[in-house]
Formats: sequence, C-alpha cells, structure tokens
Amino acid sequence: MAKILYCGDLVPGCKFEARGTCDEEVVAEYADHLATAHNMVNIPDAIMEMVCKAIQEEVHVQARAARAQLFLALFRMRCRRGCPRPF
Ligand SMILES: [Zn+2]
Repeated sequence: MAKILYCGDLVPGCKFEARGTCDEEVVAEYADHLATAHNMVNIPDAIMEMVCKAIQEEVHVQARAARAQLFLALFRMRCRRGCPRPF
C-alpha cells in the first residue's frame, strides 16, 4: 500500500509529492525535500507532526481514478451502441 504526501498541504504552492511504502519512507523522502527545496534542515516537532498528519494512503487516489476510468469505458460503450443523447 503506497503512501503519499503532498508538499502543497504544508507549503502552499509547492508541487512536490513524497511517496513511499510506509510512513517512514515518505517522511525520509520529504525531510530530504524540505532540506533541499525549503532550506529546512532541522525540522521542528510541530512541523513533523503536521507532516505525519498530511500523509495519505495513495490507494484512495488510485481507486478514484480507476472508478473514473471504468465510468468512461462504460460511457463510451453505451455511445457506440447508440446513445440517444448527442455528446
Ligand atoms: Zn516543497
């Protein structure tokens, strides 16, 4: 199960995404990014807490995308069979 952390959740405007198979991996990658991109070498506990809370399960994102793909496929199939509405 993949974990993901969007830097934009903590640093508005930043497009960086840290990924990993567990929280530790994500935090390690993110700490590296904070040091190189945001000059934050010593991360305060308060920030670290925010970082941990911002980590999400990537599976939810992928499930949503998969559902959208399925919907699109069904939609196209219907249209090929003669969708009454002109899309
Ligand atoms: Zn960033």
